[in-house]
Amino acid sequence: MFFIDENYLHQLIDKKEKVDSKRVDDVLSKARELKGLELEEVAVLLNIDDSENLNKLFSTALFIKEEIYGNRLVLFAPLYISNYCSNNCLYCGFRADNKAIERRTLSLEEIKEETKAILEQGHKRILMLMGENHKQTGLDYLISAIDSVYSVKDSKGSSIRRINIEIAPLTDNEFKVLRDVKIGTYTVFQETYHYETYNQMHPSGKKSDYEWRLFTMDRALSNGMADVGIGALFGLYDYKFEVLALIQHSKYLDEKFGIGPHTISIPRIKPAINAPASQNIPHQVSDNDFKKLVAVIRCAVPYTGMILSTREPKELRSELFNYGISQISAGSKTNIGGYKQALGGFSEIGQFSLNDCRTSGEVIQDVIKQGYIPSFCTACYRLGRVGEDFMDQAKPGLIKIFCQPNALTTLKEYLIDYADEETKKLGDELIKKELETIPNEHIKNKTIEYLKKIEEGERDLYF
Ligand code: SAM
Ligand code: SF4
Repeated sequence: MFFIDENYLHQLIDKKEKVDSKRVDDVLSKARELKGLELEEVAVLLNIDDSENLNKLFSTALFIKEEIYGNRLVLFAPLYISNYCSNNCLYCGFRADNKAIERRTLSLEEIKEETKAILEQGHKRILMLMGENHKQTGLDYLISAIDSVYSVKDSKGSSIRRINIEIAPLTDNEFKVLRDVKIGTYTVFQETYHYETYNQMHPSGKKSDYEWRLFTMDRALSNGMADVGIGALFGLYDYKFEVLALIQHSKYLDEKFGIGPHTISIPRIKPAINAPASQNIPHQVSDNDFKKLVAVIRCAVPYTGMILSTREPKELRSELFNYGISQISAGSKTNIGGYKQALGGFSEIGQFSLNDCRTSGEVIQDVIKQGYIPSFCTACYRLGRVGEDFMDQAKPGLIKIFCQPNALTTLKEYLIDYADEETKKLGDELIKKELETIPNEHIKNKTIEYLKKIEEGERDLYF
């Protein structure tokens, strides 16, 4: 259908060839060259079902992630600003027909309160989301919401440095307006790339138009947006099909615009109230298949930021850090006004249920204990290293030259401003160890200088 070739993808899945270890090895060696994979090669990896080949796949995915981004994990917090929605997605708690939730659109004051609460957790990067309801929450509201977030300072004088947004598909004209607003990545998930399933899952509302949604990123990139994020909601249709389609979409964007997806998200359906497809998941993806698909996407689209949310439980999240994940949310709330209970009285019910309910502080300490650097970096976007420029650096693995020192300076800020004593100790040990591994002497010395300045009270120093 359109640039998603359903017949071809089904052919690749239906081949069901016996796993040939030699072929797997060949594909994995190609993946290690960081140039991505063809769809047919992706299908070979998706067919792996034995632990020996799986382990080779996992170690290749980790190798690739570290070659591109180093061992940092970028952190963010989602901010839901409205749960009004005129669509009826069968898997979502915000669907119009769900009368069991209280509907709320945050006022700009409330958005500021939420932002403050997020900042006090140490976050610098927000993903702003809302349902699709043009009367309640049009583009003007979104732009005012973005301005409100940037205007807030917390008790440390700190503010949000990057807002990514995940909202319904926009028109050409709306993208022309949005391109001049300070946002990072614009994200829309196709949910399912399978046309028939898409139509079943989206019975009414604007979202029921598959084509309108599929070409969202064409409109975004044609109208000057720099970075776009894509994703599929796993559980709606065969996971192998969705992975192949995500990769076909990535290749299509890369070939047409010279800009592949800045991020790929891989949410799995979780239970939501009055959302039938979330209680009776049509194609439940097992944990083992989920781990495999994360590693396969990393091998196939090496340069992309792969995002893991708190939909998944902490043990699985920790394991997935080793298979190619590069960005995570932490301390998340998906109910409107969830960060600041003091806003009071309204719905406790979120869009779906979460499985990692730890505080950001707990997640960050755990990440450090695993040897990864929690990063609050927002440098690329602020230096204009976006779109094709970002791709030029990320594809050959040059971006990690900046990722590592920026992770260290932003972690240092976090340790001084927000961390408890134990995290501070663990974090400082990690910084000391990591400094030794910075290959470029000039960058190493500059990082040491920045860290010292941060200790003396300066903030926001980056490469
Ligand atoms: N309303 C906009 C839209 O649909 O594109 C903005 C994003 S919506 C607030 C965020 C995403 O949550 C959806 O795109 C969908 O993939 C995901 N989602 C919805 N219901 C879910 C569920 N029950 N479990 C997990 N993720 C879900
Ligand atoms: Fe609305 Fe988005 Fe939920 Fe669909 S997924 S019901 S569009 S909030």
